[in-house]
Amino acid sequence: MRPFSYIVPRTLSEASIAAKKPGALLKAAGIDVVDRMKERKHDATELVSLLPLKDRLATIASDGLGVRIGALATLAQIADSKDLANAAFAALRESAGIAATPQVRNRATAAGNVLQLARCWYLRSSDLQCLHGRDGTSCLAMVGDNRYHSVLGYLDCVRVHPSNLAPALLALGCDYSTELAGKTTRRPLRDLFPTEPKAEADEHTLLPGEILTAFHVPPQPMGARSAYRESREKLSFDWATTAAAARVVIEGGVIKEASLVLGAVAPVPLDRPDAAKMLVGEKPSDELFVRAAQRAFVDARPLSHNGYKPQVGMAVVREVLHAVTR
Ligand SMILES: Cc1cc2nc3c(=O)[nH]c(=O)nc-3n(C[C@H](O)[C@H](O)[C@H](O)COP(=O)(O)OP(=O)(O)OC[C@H]3O[C@@H](n4cnc5c(N)ncnc54)[C@H](O)[C@@H]3O)c2cc1C
Repeated sequence: MRPFSYIVPRTLSEASIAAKKPGALLKAAGIDVVDRMKERKHDATELVSLLPLKDRLATIASDGLGVRIGALATLAQIADSKDLANAAFAALRESAGIAATPQVRNRATAAGNVLQLARCWYLRSSDLQCLHGRDGTSCLAMVGDNRYHSVLGYLDCVRVHPSNLAPALLALGCDYSTELAGKTTRRPLRDLFPTEPKAEADEHTLLPGEILTAFHVPPQPMGARSAYRESREKLSFDWATTAAAARVVIEGGVIKEASLVLGAVAPVPLDRPDAAKMLVGEKPSDELFVRAAQRAFVDARPLSHNGYKPQVGMAVVREVLHAVTR
């Protein structure tokens, strides 16, 4: 790791100004950021810590209009939150509660989890240069060892979005708030991710110095439920190989509303509206879920080493749909 200055801001505005400087990097718990710096993949000259702002940014609270999850709330807080105890929010508790390890979950923040750099061993290695890392001319995973990489929604780079929390937040229709130069902005969560996830696009659309301050989970109607399921190689200390979050509203045994979002299979968390639409107006059944899962992966383009992903991903979708309608 190269030498750097450690900035301890007293206010959001101070943090934003410091983070805007070239070479500066925001740090929440630092699990991803410090890892990248140790690997010499990112040589931040100034590391701007958000942890001094924890009092303001780490609370989870119902406000009558839904639930506000502070950007610095930990995954463990989300998994255990009383404000998220309702079945409608199960996808959030489940996705946070099985991520990584207990140690990581007790430190990792909601914003850091959603904004973490893509998982790709070529991108994260300081010995290698690639298009997404902005120091190479091609995507090395496209033709290399791509067993954990994308099967859907990719263009010239096959990195995967690794966050557990992002598909669950999207399935629930959340917004996010940011602060930049004293201005607060609230947008739909979909806007946080690039619409065209090219190699040259960052994982997220935040501007330099823009600080994510909270996620807003909208109020859910009677009969709303959500769930999250994933596949992975190890039971702990590992990222998902495929993941799915689903939200449904059930009335009189019939699915009235549905959303389905996939994780770990594309460069961004991937909404599957066509598959979700197939569920609406139907009674839950295994036959329906098999068809919806096939629809969710209908345009899959597996790479040379990840042909297993559509098969496993479809099983995970089927499982999450059973879980959410049980
Ligand atoms: C062994 C292991 C297993 C793991 N398994 C999983 C897993 O199964 N699922 C999963 O989802 N993750 C997994 N992770 C990743 C881990 O969850 C993330 O590294 C962690 O959530 C990042 O959070 P952080 O607070 O440490 O973020 P940091 O490392 O501090 O920041 C991450 C990124 O977000 C930016 N950032 C952070 N907060 C803000 C903010 N408020 N505003 C603007 N930018 C911000 C930083 O600049 C940085 O680019 C695993 C990690 C390890 C070490």
